Amino acid sequence: MSDNTLPIAVLGGGIIGLCTAVNLLRDGHRVLVIDRGDAQAAASYGNAGCLNGSSIVPNSSPDVMRRVPRWLFDSEGPLVLRAGYLPFMLPWLLRFAASGRREAIEKQAVALRALLGSSLDETLALARETGLSPLIRPVGHTVAYTTSEGFRADGVAMSLRERNGVHVEVLDRHALRARDPHLSDQFVAGRYIAETGHVGDPGAFLAGLRHHITSQGGRFVDTEIKTLETDGSAVTSVVTASGAMPVKCVVIALGAWSKTLAQRLGDKVLLDTERGYHIEVPEAPVAPSTPTLWSEAKMFVTPMDGRVRCAGTVEFAGLARGPDWRRCDLLARQLGRMYPGIGAHLQHRPVAPERRWLGFRPSTPDSLPVLGRASRMANAYYAFGHGHVGLTAGAASGRIVADLVAGRTTSIDLEPFSIARFA
Ligand SMILES: Cc1cc2nc3c(=O)[nH]c(=O)nc-3n(C[C@H](O)[C@H](O)[C@H](O)COP(=O)(O)OP(=O)(O)OC[C@H]3O[C@@H](n4cnc5c(N)ncnc54)[C@H](O)[C@@H]3O)c2cc1C
Repeated sequence: MSDNTLPIAVLGGGIIGLCTAVNLLRDGHRVLVIDRGDAQAAASYGNAGCLNGSSIVPNSSPDVMRRVPRWLFDSEGPLVLRAGYLPFMLPWLLRFAASGRREAIEKQAVALRALLGSSLDETLALARETGLSPLIRPVGHTVAYTTSEGFRADGVAMSLRERNGVHVEVLDRHALRARDPHLSDQFVAGRYIAETGHVGDPGAFLAGLRHHITSQGGRFVDTEIKTLETDGSAVTSVVTASGAMPVKCVVIALGAWSKTLAQRLGDKVLLDTERGYHIEVPEAPVAPSTPTLWSEAKMFVTPMDGRVRCAGTVEFAGLARGPDWRRCDLLARQLGRMYPGIGAHLQHRPVAPERRWLGFRPSTPDSLPVLGRASRMANAYYAFGHGHVGLTAGAASGRIVADLVAGRTTSIDLEPFSIARFA
């Protein structure tokens, strides 16, 4: 028998954990959120801010796979694999390659679209409920290309989006310039996707959600989670640096750090991290009106409150290694090329050290998060592995976990997201 005086423990206070907590509180549960309490350590803090429901093309798409070898030998490329980390990543990389088969890609895209398709509306609703509407900007986003070859090659991914209901507007050089007059004239073409939006300050969004959760009676404990205690069929308590905390059930939403606890509950999972970086330019002299992706460089430039944030790059180097700030130097150079007005500004006021950030995307090889029940513990749920789309998927993921806890039918088929796919 479950003890209703005990709380549901949400493990992890990033966007996924916080959205889950909001939904559980609405259902009338007692909720305890346990997190280290270092806001900037969460991937949710420093991302590009996009609420991009069109981001349904798995990372192992043929276009990406074709370019990987070139990127790996290009120090200015968007992808780095630290040689010493390769042996640790091998199973993940093999599964990643297998996920790039055409049929698999189509299925993953359909599953992602089901999860992300209404993400902007869901985030807007969550923001209204929590008093955070001013932070959400439903203005779409732009993809810009410096080469016609890049524009053409991206056509395959864009068709996949269109087959899944995304409307894509093609911009020739003039239309691109009209949409974004500050963009360098090196850019030859673009695409605009109107259905998306962005968050004007992801850190403020997280802080606002925390405030709302507290106001609704939710409790936060800032401490290190060590392990889980079970009775063999259910989790009984969360063991932390501050002691053991008895729980009614647990939601594991620890982002890139979720694997150890899933294994502790008897589930196998292939979860690694695609490390990413950002730089920020406060009081930038010019800014795009929408988040803008430089397609060939795989970096986003997002207009945020009081600054421009430039985020991107994928670095395979695990959770323990320190930052390689040369990735931020690269972002700064590319930002300057993309927006000459910002480039000129950076010559006088280079990016300040505190405006550089490293974050850990929680990544599965098939680009699908793990959402659903633990296979062996009746009272444990998973919500992690959101890779490049966790901010986008936060509101929907939180709602889905609350539906599972309440025994309601979920709005989407969770089979593609089941942890059983790694068994
Ligand atoms: C450069 C970059 C750009 C991105 N851009 C976008 C974007 O534009 N749009 C988008 O949708 N997504 C984007 N993402 C991805 C998105 O940020 C992530 O998918 C999302 O933030 C994951 O959220 P999470 O809550 O699962 O994990 P996190 O935000 O990482 O939260 C996990 C929390 O658990 C805590 N924790 C972990 N282990 C323990 C422990 N043992 N004890 C206590 N606490 C612990 C951590 O400290 C952290 O607070 C980007 C990511 C990066 C790195």
